[in-house]
Amino acid sequence: MKELIQPAAAAPAALVQNQHEAVRALFDRYVMPTYARFDLVLAHGAGSEVWDVNGRRYLDLGGGIAVCALGHAHPEVAETLARQARRLLHVSNLYYHEPQGRLAQEIIRNLGVAGKVFFANSGAESNEGMFKLARMFGHAHPGADGPRHEVITTINSFHGRTLGGIAATGQDKIKAGFGPMPDGFRCDVPFNDLPAMEAAVGPRTAAILIEGIQGEGGITPAGVEYLLGLRRLCDERNLLLMIDAVQCGHFRSGCFQSYQRVLGDALGAAAAAGFSPDAVSMAKSLGGGFPIGAFWARQPFADLLGPGSHGTTYGGTPLGCAVALKIFEIIERDGLAAQARETGAWLHGQIDTLAAEFPGVVRGARGLGLMLGIELAPAAEIRSLAARASERPASLQVVDRLHEAGVLTIPSGTQIVRLLPALNLARARAEEGVDLIRRVVRSLA
Ligand code: PLP
Repeated sequence: MKELIQPAAAAPAALVQNQHEAVRALFDRYVMPTYARFDLVLAHGAGSEVWDVNGRRYLDLGGGIAVCALGHAHPEVAETLARQARRLLHVSNLYYHEPQGRLAQEIIRNLGVAGKVFFANSGAESNEGMFKLARMFGHAHPGADGPRHEVITTINSFHGRTLGGIAATGQDKIKAGFGPMPDGFRCDVPFNDLPAMEAAVGPRTAAILIEGIQGEGGITPAGVEYLLGLRRLCDERNLLLMIDAVQCGHFRSGCFQSYQRVLGDALGAAAAAGFSPDAVSMAKSLGGGFPIGAFWARQPFADLLGPGSHGTTYGGTPLGCAVALKIFEIIERDGLAAQARETGAWLHGQIDTLAAEFPGVVRGARGLGLMLGIELAPAAEIRSLAARASERPASLQVVDRLHEAGVLTIPSGTQIVRLLPALNLARARAEEGVDLIRRVVRSLA
């Protein structure tokens, strides 16, 4: 049979002969170079372990950037996926099906506040839905100058890679080359700075959007006073308070939502239950690796987006929803919120110990639950990194060294190495991770 596509050059070497190089060659030739990838070619995983094509094992403390809530190849998730695929893979949103309704109910049960959910496919797309909600709200509740449409976000935020997402993101580097940005976003307000937010609200403002814990910007939780103050501000000025929980949500902090954790720790569970944003976006761990996103809006805003106002072909498929429901079930059954909190506290303490022992390399620990950051000294101050004729920031160089030691982590900015492991990370694996990190930090000290 004739090949459909005739390769312009010789086919890459057979995968069995040199898989690593062959896969790299495929990417070099056929995949857009939008990601600065590390030189690792991964083949399979189990729990918090992954193996590359050469059979080398790595401990995965990066969790697919906070996606793999139950680690890799969880047997019950795989079984659910296969069973639902045999029953009903996809139906269009012209029809009803049980998994989508049940998943919406489960999300709302965990949020603890009446509302409704829209299903999407990714974090960026979930945020896009919230932007449209904010605009619909601003049109329904105009200001003195007419309809309101502006969404205010914060410096160092990250809200996704769509045009709306990058317009909302408070980091210039991700906008470079894509101007002009869509109108209606202001993202120059410092995070955790309530007076600055109060001053930024104008006659066109419809909503404020923050991450519960800034992730890409370096693992910074929103503080108690900030959360309460934003709620007050939004009530006073008739604005929507929207939380991007794409990275920090889904039990990563030790609670379903990071604001529940922050407020619960400071004020107790009852006071925390009295707080609610108006909308929350989610993705990542919601599907544990199956691509699904969602956003929730509380009443009375939940019906603002009426029939025909928003949609997406793959949003809330039976397959994605069945997987997400199974993940909710396992997290609850196995007590993984509490486990994330406990393992996270232990890891946090271990990073603090490293900072005390090697202050020239590690400056401290950041974050909550299993959304942790190891704050590094600048590369120029870490002698063995500065000595390398490399412009790579400390975060990337340390992640490289950790790969050599056999552990996957995620860089964030120039000086933070993130740990976003599976929520079911066993204590023995966490201990192994700390041993490997310690070995690398010691070698740099
Ligand atoms: N929002 C936050 C806080 C994120 O961390 C991310 C991704 O890292 C996104 C949005 C975008 O999500 P996605 O990559 O699924 O579009």
